[in-house]
Amino acid sequence: MKKSHVFEWNNSAFQQKVLAWYDQNRRILPWRAKKNSKPSPYHVWLSEVMLQQTTVPAVKKYFERFTSLWPTIHDLANSPPDAVMQEWAGLGYYARARNLIKCAGIVSADLNGKFPETEKDLKLLPGIGPYTAAAISSIAFGNNSVVVDGNVERIASRVFMVDNPMPLAKKEIHALAKHFYEGITSKRAGDMPQALMDIGATVCTPKSPKCEICPISDLCTVKQRNENPNLYPRKLPKAKKPHREGKVYWLETEAKQILIEKRSDERMLGWMFGFPGTSWDGVGNDFTAPDIDWDMVGDVTHIFTHFSLKLEVLRGRMPVGKVKLNKNQYLIDITEVENVGFPSLYKKVLKLALPARNMDPE
Ligand code: SF4
Repeated sequence: MKKSHVFEWNNSAFQQKVLAWYDQNRRILPWRAKKNSKPSPYHVWLSEVMLQQTTVPAVKKYFERFTSLWPTIHDLANSPPDAVMQEWAGLGYYARARNLIKCAGIVSADLNGKFPETEKDLKLLPGIGPYTAAAISSIAFGNNSVVVDGNVERIASRVFMVDNPMPLAKKEIHALAKHFYEGITSKRAGDMPQALMDIGATVCTPKSPKCEICPISDLCTVKQRNENPNLYPRKLPKAKKPHREGKVYWLETEAKQILIEKRSDERMLGWMFGFPGTSWDGVGNDFTAPDIDWDMVGDVTHIFTHFSLKLEVLRGRMPVGKVKLNKNQYLIDITEVENVGFPSLYKKVLKLALPARNMDPE
């Protein structure tokens, strides 16, 4: 540890303050075990996968829906993959859902429904990276793993006043965050990361942290040096995202059917339903739009992690029987289209094209 940066550091004082605060202030979350009861590894795993890249408020209703539909890992594993993908629609980062299905299958069939307990074994399962393995191992099984999510990163960057900018400082911050966990007993090992996450979410927030009520303010270097916590973690100036453009087709038959397709595994939003269009993700071929009159309905825009996208929405109609269906393409009744669990990008297309279509003369 760079002692010069740290204001009178003391592992055990830090841990006592954090855990005492947690005992009084812990958040009630649907996946969290009640005080003094055993956590469910299935719930911990499901919530941690859902929480990757997604906020707690957004995850709550998905978690509740999943656990009511599939109360056990066996129920989830035995469900048709399409049903799981449909329920995941809107949560984003669909590779997570595909890995969730694969992981449920392995744990249910090969491991008799029991998740492995160590980080090393957990990391062998699909969709479980180092962070998720540490979180499950610690929260579900009481191992003293070093769990470092965005909240813990932010707290560490402030407590230890890390001047290097992210993402370059990631390694340094992770090494420093080890001090948060050193020497924790197995009884409280699962509480520690959850306590830090709660402090990060409610006190040491990204903007305007509530230092005046923070349980660790007397151990926090940024606070003790009267520095501005909003500036930590330091960040490099953001590079502008690349921008892509394409077309998406709303193709109807005269029998009030609409063409949808299931995106293949290797494409972005793989396994999800969408409307045919140009290959905006750079994978596979463009949809060969039939040679008919297409009306321009408008544009939809969507921001992905690595690029922004604008799709021109075009609408056309063909006689029944003239639509050539490729593999994974389907004609569904127009009354069913709102029940398809589209991901957000295609929900936007639906929102734009459906009202325009309803204005057509019958
Ligand atoms: S004192 Fe302020 S900056 Fe430091 S950990 Fe607490 S809330 Fe965060």
